[in-house]
Amino acid sequence: MASASLVAAARRLEGKVALITGGGSGIGEATARLFSKHGAKVVIADIQDHLGHSLCKDLEESSSSYVHCDVTKETDVENAVNTAVSKYGKLDIMFNNAGIGGANKSNIVENEKSEFEQVINVNLVGVFLGTKHAARVMIPERRGSIINTASVCGSIGGVASHPYTSSKHAVVGLTRNTAVELGALGVRVNCVSPYMVATPLAKDFFKLSDEGVRGVYFNLKGDLEPNDVAEAALYLGSDASKFVSGHNLVVDGGFTVVNNGFC
Ligand code: NAD
Repeated sequence: MASASLVAAARRLEGKVALITGGGSGIGEATARLFSKHGAKVVIADIQDHLGHSLCKDLEESSSSYVHCDVTKETDVENAVNTAVSKYGKLDIMFNNAGIGGANKSNIVENEKSEFEQVINVNLVGVFLGTKHAARVMIPERRGSIINTASVCGSIGGVASHPYTSSKHAVVGLTRNTAVELGALGVRVNCVSPYMVATPLAKDFFKLSDEGVRGVYFNLKGDLEPNDVAEAALYLGSDASKFVSGHNLVVDGGFTVVNNGFC
């Protein structure tokens, strides 16, 4: 039989409360499942209510909840953070993960201002609002881990569209800037940067099937799964990374190193 300390080590988020935006699908869903397995209370925030509710049914009901939250709306984000605190007493981990691909237009002349703004609103303003409201409740506690989903497109050009690439570069910048401010107040801020994962976002954006996404080049052999990104978020959310802040953890199977992108 496993000793109590081994069980505790296996459940790396025991006693912690996490809020995951875009938690109903893809990377967010995989992270909600993994965090829950590791003992965290998880609040799933999304705009696809049916996905969030059905995920909560799959997870331990007493340790997960769903809240409708459009990350572009400050009142929704504020409410999601307040829900975590009122239901579970605190917020330890904020995973600002919700994102969209937007229109995949490579020609800048064809880019519409409204389409550009939509991607920036979800991918960047959403991260700003999540960081702001998580910080509001974490600073008085002098602890917390904020994790933002950026992308390899946050460090290199030429992979995705102009608005998407711009939004993800800005997420890396916002991560670094807030890490400097909040680190002195006991709150860590990091980001994860995946390459191609077979989720609805990637498949819609690149008009690819599961097999098509899996066919992209990685240096390492094999496929990048949502759970591989969730494992990176688990590390950044857990006390194992207690002295890591302002870091961009790239999860790309070696893609950017081969392509000379130093994330
Ligand atoms: P996904 O489509 O499976 O999940 C995205 C989730 O975000 C969905 O549940 C969606 O409903 C939600 N969402 C969209 N707009 C929202 C809004 N306004 N408010 C709240 N929730 C909203 O895609 P995914 O690949 O899991 O994407 C998660 C994150 O990973 C995104 O930030 C994306 O940019 C990033 N990312 C993905 C890849 C990839 O290849 N899949 C690579 C790099 C980065």
